[in-house]
Order: sequence, then structure tokens, then C-alpha cells
Amino acid sequence: MSTPVYGRVSIEGIHAIALNRTGGVSRPPFDSLNLASYVGDDAKCVAANLDIAKELVSASKISIMNAEHGSKVHFVSESGMANPGDGLVTKQVGLALVALAADCVPFGLIDPVNRVIAVGHAGWRGVLANVMQSLLDEFVANGADLSNTQAVIGPAICATCYEVPTQRVELFRTVFPEAISSPRNLDLTAGVKSVLIGQVGEVHELTGCTFENPDMFSYRSAAGKPTGRGGLVIAISNSLNLES
Ligand SMILES: [Zn+2]
Repeated sequence: MSTPVYGRVSIEGIHAIALNRTGGVSRPPFDSLNLASYVGDDAKCVAANLDIAKELVSASKISIMNAEHGSKVHFVSESGMANPGDGLVTKQVGLALVALAADCVPFGLIDPVNRVIAVGHAGWRGVLANVMQSLLDEFVANGADLSNTQAVIGPAICATCYEVPTQRVELFRTVFPEAISSPRNLDLTAGVKSVLIGQVGEVHELTGCTFENPDMFSYRSAAGKPTGRGGLVIAISNSLNLES
């Protein structure tokens, strides 16, 4: 049975779900749970897939990250494509936030006490730009307390599969040595985690390799051909049922 759910973290009516590429309606090469409208997929299929994502987290609206591989983040309270940036924060009940990714690292923040949530997206440029810290700062500016906060890190390309030019690895040497796994390999997840650990209360890892797992979208395994985007969806649920 093909499920859209790779892994989930639910805390007091706030749900974060890392998505598989399965369980949606798009046709190849976007099969099947593609959430990105900018990759060439049928708009009706993307809309239907966004409805599936909303339902998974019991939300009625969804704000979609418009990633640009930088460190800009936005507070959002409306549905639709957000302004360009790599992080979204909301306090809106029933508004899902989605970080689109296909090898980059999607991550989320949950403060169940102050009812604030956030999602971020970091590829190698985002880690270097420290979008993680930008998101934590915006999260706190909107009332979150990091000592209550639980972070979720979704699946991304693993260090072994993420071989890059040595010059790119060198860019990390002084600013993000945590993200270097060999002179030719970057561990983006470790880079993201190094900023979250020690600042938030707890980090949940729904990690796995998007390149190796055929049930996930991978930009690298598509090798230049069009493919979809999955990622991480999070919402303060509409439902009054606070089971966790
Ligand atoms: Zn891998």
C-alpha cells in the first residue's frame, strides 16, 4: 500500500509529516504526490495533492514555501505560494506550512505551549547562509520559546550520496565544519542539526536518504529530467482532538 506518510511527529494537536512521493495523483515523472506547481506538472494534480497534504495534518489551508536557497524567512497567515524565502512561521490554526524539497533538508519547529510552528528548507547554499538560525530568530520573534520547542528534521540526500566538488566542501571548512563528511562529501543534515541542537528542547529525526529511497523525490536521481517535490508539512490542527 503506497502511503504519503514517511514519518510523523504529533505533539498536542500539532502535526509534522515527512512525505513520500507515493499516495498522490500526479502522473510520471511527477508520480505521484508532487506538491510543486513550478516543475511542469498539471495544476489540477498539484492542487489535489495539496489537498491530500492538508488532510494529513488536519488543516483547511496551506502556505507553500517559494524556496530561493537563501536565508530569508516569512511570517505567514494566508494560504497560497509564499513570498520567496526558505522559511515560514505561523500561529494560524488550520494553516499548514509546507517546505518543498527533493534532496535538500526540510525541517520544522514546534512550540506546543505558545502554539507557534515553522518550516525551513536548506540545501548547501541554505546551510552556508544559516537559514536555520534565521528561522529560529523569526520563530522567537513571533512568541515561541525555544526551551519548549521540538524540532523535526525530514529526509534528505545522505552524505555518502552527496558527492560535490572539493571547492564546495572548502566553503564549509571555517563556517560549517559539522557539514563536512569527507573532502568530497557534504552532510547537509548534520549542518542543519548542528544549529538546532543545543538551542531547542528536542530534535526528532525522520531522516533517510532521498537519493536511495525510490519512494521519495530526488533531484539528483532525476539527473536533469523533471521530477516532483515532496518535503515536510506541518500544521496546528483544526481538529479539537488533541491526541498525540
Ligand atoms: Zn544516500
